[in-house]
Amino acid sequence: MMSPANDPKQTAGAILTDSTYAVIYDLHSHTTASDGRLTPEALVHRALEMRVGTLAITDHDTVAAIPGARAEIERAGLPLTLISGVEISTVWENHEIHIVGLNIDITHPSLVTFLQAQTERRQQRAMLIAERLDKAQIPGAWEGALKLADGGAVTRGHFARFLVEAGKANTMADVFKKYLARGKTGYVPPQWCTIEQAIDVIHHSGGKAVIAHPGRYNLSAKWLKRLLAHFSESGGDAMEVAQCQQAPHERAQLAAYARQYGLMASQGSDFHQPCPWIELGRKLWLPAGVEGVWQSWEQQPQKINEREV
Ligand code: AMP
Ligand code: MN
Ligand code: MN
Ligand code: MN
Repeated sequence: MMSPANDPKQTAGAILTDSTYAVIYDLHSHTTASDGRLTPEALVHRALEMRVGTLAITDHDTVAAIPGARAEIERAGLPLTLISGVEISTVWENHEIHIVGLNIDITHPSLVTFLQAQTERRQQRAMLIAERLDKAQIPGAWEGALKLADGGAVTRGHFARFLVEAGKANTMADVFKKYLARGKTGYVPPQWCTIEQAIDVIHHSGGKAVIAHPGRYNLSAKWLKRLLAHFSESGGDAMEVAQCQQAPHERAQLAAYARQYGLMASQGSDFHQPCPWIELGRKLWLPAGVEGVWQSWEQQPQKINEREV
């Protein structure tokens, strides 16, 4: 039998309170406020179980999860630093590019107004997706996706779940390939904001702008470099370099790009729900030679009251 001292679950508390233990930064995660499956309260507990010391919640175009997560950390006295974040949907050269905002002031008026506009765009797009599916003899998608979103931001992830539950495909990957990817029956070209607008609103609310999962846009090396150059020239701060699941050498390649384009590096699981290969904090570390985006705010504590409004 395993003794309590050897059982990681039993010793996790002791390790977490040991200040010499290296904390894990996970700066990309989702909750039920968008297409994640865990509530904000459940997510912060799970983060701690996975030995994450600093967690950013970055729901799609909403910050609705942040107050509840913060309150739970306080209530339960969790040794977890929560970074207020958001994942903003943008369109660039006909590609949907996600820009993560980290360490933002979620009450900043320009951010609040901006996210309201993004929410309206989401609703419009969701209605059009449902109309297209209806024409393709798949009724009930609007009600179905809305029910799954349960008051949170409605995403293609909810349509995908609805379609899998309706027996239209076996897996989320298949359902995207068949119905929701660019050019497919349920695809609606998005009306998202530009990359510059996303960077601008993140900066106005005191945050750092980070390109999310650069390896997941199906861009050739030439186009990816073009994107990074554009982001950097537009004032972007960092790019995600480390994720749980990456092709061999991808992390080293992304770190090299970060240096080349003068960007800091970030890392995040993009956790949506418990699953064997994507987990909070899993395999998150940065190669040598890049600067972690968190260093920028840990070295310069925020002065919210002195910030220009
Ligand atoms: P949206 O922001 O509404 O376009 O939805 C994008 C979300 O759909 C992503 O954040 C993922 O959660 C999910 N998604 C996109 N592509 C796939 C895929 N191929 N397989 C599973 N989920 C996906
Ligand atoms: Mn998602
Ligand atoms: Mn994303
Ligand atoms: Mn994400």
